[in-house]
Amino acid sequence: MRLASYRTADALRPAIVAGDELVDLGAADPALSAPWAELLDRGPACLDRARAIAASGAHRIPLHSVRLAAPVQPRKFFAIGLNYADHVAEAGLETPEHLVVFIKAGTSVTGPYDPVERPAVSDYLDYEGELGFVIGRRCRHVGADRAAEVIAGYLIVDDVSVRDWQIQTPQWSLAKSFDTHGPIGPWIVTPDEIGDPHRLAIRTFVNGELRQQSDTSQLIFDCYRQVEILSQACTLEPGDVIATGTPSGVAAAMDGQPWLEPGDRVRVEIDGIGAIENEVIQERVAGAGTRGEERS
Ligand code: ZN
Repeated sequence: MRLASYRTADALRPAIVAGDELVDLGAADPALSAPWAELLDRGPACLDRARAIAASGAHRIPLHSVRLAAPVQPRKFFAIGLNYADHVAEAGLETPEHLVVFIKAGTSVTGPYDPVERPAVSDYLDYEGELGFVIGRRCRHVGADRAAEVIAGYLIVDDVSVRDWQIQTPQWSLAKSFDTHGPIGPWIVTPDEIGDPHRLAIRTFVNGELRQQSDTSQLIFDCYRQVEILSQACTLEPGDVIATGTPSGVAAAMDGQPWLEPGDRVRVEIDGIGAIENEVIQERVAGAGTRGEERS
């Protein structure tokens, strides 16, 4: 099953993707008019209800008639650094002994086809195509052997990165947290549909040019080990998103370092999930403090 969200003038609506249509869950059952993080928190019966509604064939709208939003708004948005050997090598670093974890601010999250801003304060804008997964159950101290039980599904992440900010201090979080720098989607694919999450081909294109090409079998710490280690430290909650790391091919490691520029289009594809595609636009700073008003 594919769990999506789309925005109308006054609401964010949960939906199920069925071929080239969306099943509007809130239209079928007002009790389901809630963000996916909340629906996941209600437990498996809620997903069963969604599945039954999707199977009924009612309340369908053409997928192309809406603009998909980020499928989930995470309470915690973790990301993993240096988790593909070829990316570690291109960064000129040692393979980490421990999981390298940083946080992307929740406010970085944006939709699968929404614009990504080149910041007013930096031109060193880079892409990182990644597999992400979404937590489906509140949990703590989950062993890798049980981790699959707490994963609601998988999606695509572009862990957009501001490279000069990333290297100027030992902490990466702020360099990874600019508004619009966390496109996720296009939907959450549930584990029964994805099969083995560690056998998925991943590709990143910039303006149609293939920049990254790998396979999730190359992850150093796989998704289940990530759940194990993260849940040793903190409670994982429904809707939390973990971006699992990027393979080689980022602009920072290329000859000439072709940073992203306004007008560029970054497309990340993962077999079995689909694709997200985001155009780069220049951030316009209208005045201090106005951003929240613009976005509300
Ligand atoms: Zn990353």
